Amino acid sequence: MQRRKHVVGNWKMNGDLAANDALLSACLGLPRSEVAVDLCVPFPYLAQAAARLAGSAISLGAQDVSEFECGAYTGEVAGSMLKEFGCRHAIVGHSERRTWFGDTDDRVAAKAARSIAAGLIPIVCVGETLLEREQGRAEEVVARQLDAVLERIGAAGMAGSMLAYEPVWAIGTGRTASPEEAQAMHAMIRAHVREHDARVAAELVVLYGGSVKSSNAASLFACDDIDGGLIGGASLMADDFLRIVDAAARAGIEAKAEAFASAGG
Ligand code: PEP
Repeated sequence: MQRRKHVVGNWKMNGDLAANDALLSACLGLPRSEVAVDLCVPFPYLAQAAARLAGSAISLGAQDVSEFECGAYTGEVAGSMLKEFGCRHAIVGHSERRTWFGDTDDRVAAKAARSIAAGLIPIVCVGETLLEREQGRAEEVVARQLDAVLERIGAAGMAGSMLAYEPVWAIGTGRTASPEEAQAMHAMIRAHVREHDARVAAELVVLYGGSVKSSNAASLFACDDIDGGLIGGASLMADDFLRIVDAAARAGIEAKAEAFASAGG
């Protein structure tokens, strides 16, 4: 199954109007390619980014979304609000939110469901801690996180979602999962979804996140089950981010050529 490559920038809690403007200008200089590029910016800068990205091929996303509909939930941001500001995606279950802001598996599932109801594509993040990996529990933990979401939104909901495998030990640490480690987990994730629906599993976009840089992007994106990257730190550095998108474009072209050749083309 030939899936399109995606590169999603997660700016986290960084930026100011001037710096954003420069970064957005650089991203707007990206050559057109088959790669789907999305920028997930802090809530207050959605309007700025929406205005700058209007009419471009780059889509806009948020870094979180409320599990509730509009109402008396001080400090929360509803999916309908994100939609109104032109968001296409919302990251849910990022490990920083799971670790620091109490996002449980259940809450992440509720946020995914609420995103879909609002017409957003949730990018559901899953991933194990270093201790869990060292204990040999990485797959069990990721499967548990995935099951919570699958139980809530079903295979039909998964069809309108994206996943990101982000080992917690690789996020912002400079330590990346090897292509083999990442591919093995991505294959497990796809197999897990296949138990519910084979077509949804085949079409599901599963990103890798965790210290992706221009120097390691190509080898990760070349893996069969890695459909691109969720990029934190490197998405704040225009040159690096553009090179990562280029690596995704090249990997997409190579995958297409391979698919063509194996189909006897
Ligand atoms: C992230 O924030 O989703 C992430 C993967 O961060 P970094 O690329 O900095 O590890």
